[in-house]
Amino acid sequence: MSKVDLVLLHPPSVYDFRKKSIFYGPVSDLIPSSPVFEMYPLGFLTIQSYLEEQGYKVRIVNLAVRMMKDENFDAREFISKLDPKAFGIDLHWLPHAHGSLEVAKIVKEEHPDTPVIFGGLSSTYFHEELVDYQQVDYVLRGDCTEVPFLKLLKNIENNNTDKDSLEKVPNLTWQDEEQTIINKLDFNPDSLDYVDLRPEIMIKNVFRYHDLESILPFDGWLNNPITTVFSVKGCKQGCITCGRSVCTNEHYNKRQGPIFRSPASMVKNMKKIAQFSRGPIFIVGDIRQAGGGYVSEFLNRLNKANLKNEIVFELFSPASGKFLKKIDESVQNWSLELSPESHSEVVRKAQDRTIFYTNEEMERTLDIATELGCNRIDVFFMIGLPRQTPKSVQETIDYCEYLFEKYDERLSCFISPMGPFLDPGSLAFEHPEKMGYKKLAHTLDDHRKQLTNSSWEEILSYETDWMTRKEIVEQTYSAAERLNKLKHKYDRIDDQTNENITNRISQAKKLKELLEKKDEELDFVEHLKLRGEIDKYSISTVCDKTELDWPVKFIKFKLSGIFKMLLA
Ligand code: SF4
Repeated sequence: MSKVDLVLLHPPSVYDFRKKSIFYGPVSDLIPSSPVFEMYPLGFLTIQSYLEEQGYKVRIVNLAVRMMKDENFDAREFISKLDPKAFGIDLHWLPHAHGSLEVAKIVKEEHPDTPVIFGGLSSTYFHEELVDYQQVDYVLRGDCTEVPFLKLLKNIENNNTDKDSLEKVPNLTWQDEEQTIINKLDFNPDSLDYVDLRPEIMIKNVFRYHDLESILPFDGWLNNPITTVFSVKGCKQGCITCGRSVCTNEHYNKRQGPIFRSPASMVKNMKKIAQFSRGPIFIVGDIRQAGGGYVSEFLNRLNKANLKNEIVFELFSPASGKFLKKIDESVQNWSLELSPESHSEVVRKAQDRTIFYTNEEMERTLDIATELGCNRIDVFFMIGLPRQTPKSVQETIDYCEYLFEKYDERLSCFISPMGPFLDPGSLAFEHPEKMGYKKLAHTLDDHRKQLTNSSWEEILSYETDWMTRKEIVEQTYSAAERLNKLKHKYDRIDDQTNENITNRISQAKKLKELLEKKDEELDFVEHLKLRGEIDKYSISTVCDKTELDWPVKFIKFKLSGIFKMLLA
């Protein structure tokens, strides 16, 4: 087998989580990952696609999944056997602050002469702090790094790592004789079409390295093979806690607004995915932000593509009947995701200062979608918002009951705490006092250390003028308990799921109380740790994770499509 040029390593949130007893809480219940945050960013796949097209061999290794699936998997031994020209490590989401740096340390100890390159949004924000670490050689900044990556890899391959050569790599932060050099953010495209997602490369690599587990996007993906297609990077809206908002984007990418993938490129990607997977395809971003012409072209193309997969659309604000009817005419199976965040219009207005809508307007959207052929509507609420009090959280659950009564079983509601960290670059992170937040972690190192605290109350990096961390934790369990009962009452979940969640919430609350007493009860906590109970009560507590899965009948993958891709 020819030598691999680049290995992209995805670390667990905390290294080595298998030896620690940390009560992470339900911070990841509403995303596909577990508290290990084992899902790697989509950027890994676009970097791989782009560099492979240029003739490089790129291997993705999801270390987090490997460590989760096999208690005896020795990450150091595995890394020591790799021999690429460079290693890439993602620090996109801040919960990887600990794991990414520890994995980089192991890489440097095993391969002192091989460059280690960091990338992702959190790397971009903390780039200067990152290159001060011995184990980090380079940081590629921005949300589009495929082209700078190619330039850097060529330099590394040709041993052109002198000052003059490195200064020509756009978006690069690096050190020359301990002086930090920040190259200009010159690669900042105005469209996402310069790079394609090529699922066939991912499939070929499974066979090339005889390794399926390393490339799994998250644990459990084979049972819930959801794929995502990015219509956009960034967002036109300005939610004060969001890492994708217009203000955050300006901070990270020095860009005034979002950039989009063209309808032709989107549908091409989706057709490729549908060749091998029957699973749902989630369109990241509200396509209406790209304008009416974009929406018509995209839906017309989708209509012609005639895909059978469930297509999931995100709505960032209420939608018109015209838009929903057009989806209904163009797509065979479709669902919606809405995130009003709170039932309270006061809270919603404080959270998003750019777009405001009333509950009545949102319900008009739900009325139309349920009259049409929409298969499923998930409505998401959050805890930890500006102006949100404990009373307001409970009123959100009252509102969920109202929605359950008004709509049929296709509609369900979810609530989770915002966390564990404030998104760096967001208004709440940049101007906490003005936004009503108290920031409890500032630097990358603060976040890295905070991740190893023993309970999620102590890991949370913020509290608000309206709720302390303790109240956020208490409200999370109390809201989850009530919502679970309501879901059972209104037939959103079955008896078994209800019982499981009720038990997990009650055990999680007990564990929280024990951890508060720490010293006196250490024996019992020690006992729980040995039994792996702490981990158990960090998963599926605010809801059962499988509630978020889309049912896929029979075989989830199309074997004929996979073989065609391999032969192409
Ligand atoms: S609408 Fe969604 S993506 Fe856009 S800023 Fe708000 S939370 Fe972020």
